[in-house]
Amino acid sequence: MNGLSIYALTCGWLEGDLGHLMEGGEGRIRLPIPAYLIEHPKGVALFDTGIHPDCQRDPAGRLGPRLAGLFAFDYHPGDEISARLVALERDPARIDLVINSHFHFDHCGGNAQIPNATLVVQRREWDAGMDPERAARSGFNPRDFDLGHKLRLVDGEHDVFGDGSVVCLPTHGHTPGHQSLKLRLAGGEIVLAADSCYFCQTLRERRLPRFAFDKDMMHASLDRLAALEAAGARIFFGHDPEFWATIPHAPTAIT
Ligand SMILES: [Zn+2]
Repeated sequence: MNGLSIYALTCGWLEGDLGHLMEGGEGRIRLPIPAYLIEHPKGVALFDTGIHPDCQRDPAGRLGPRLAGLFAFDYHPGDEISARLVALERDPARIDLVINSHFHFDHCGGNAQIPNATLVVQRREWDAGMDPERAARSGFNPRDFDLGHKLRLVDGEHDVFGDGSVVCLPTHGHTPGHQSLKLRLAGGEIVLAADSCYFCQTLRERRLPRFAFDKDMMHASLDRLAALEAAGARIFFGHDPEFWATIPHAPTAIT
């Protein structure tokens, strides 16, 4: 095989109203905050980095009261991405790539803890993040991602290591330049959907979240995920607690 290893990390939990996250949803739901460690012979990558550690003490101070008020934070010292890596005996300073699905606070808030990585993001996400008005409208805070990392800005599909084993897939719609990640493992293909698809039900029943940059684009991205699934890929949903309970977690690798 190609020597690819992948590990699922839980960087805390948020609790929020299901009605915000899925059309017709009721009650509260506890959301895992995933990050993935990807080890390839040519480099070590993270797919997303979770929430900034300041949110362990003062979410409203970091995010502002409106955004912080949407969630209850179950996020404590030891949950942040750097601690998760250290617990696996990996050095945060030796991560080569941070592949951000998108620029919401629960996906790139830990970028600050990965100082030497090159950021791999869709150019259209970066461009939206660099425009103050568009960034504010998309709920982006440049303090999370405009930190001086080297940049690899990509347009659409991108083969991260050049051998087809790790491929960025454009799944725009949740945000202007959202991307998912397709991985070729011994057990078959998996697709880390991130927030192009919060829950299994999002895909099965096409119940979209209340907030989206472009719902037509989101539907097109869900069509793409459905086609990949029909072709045999396993879809890893972005914040689905039931799904999250079914997969192996670090230190056990996903195969
Ligand atoms: Zn999210």
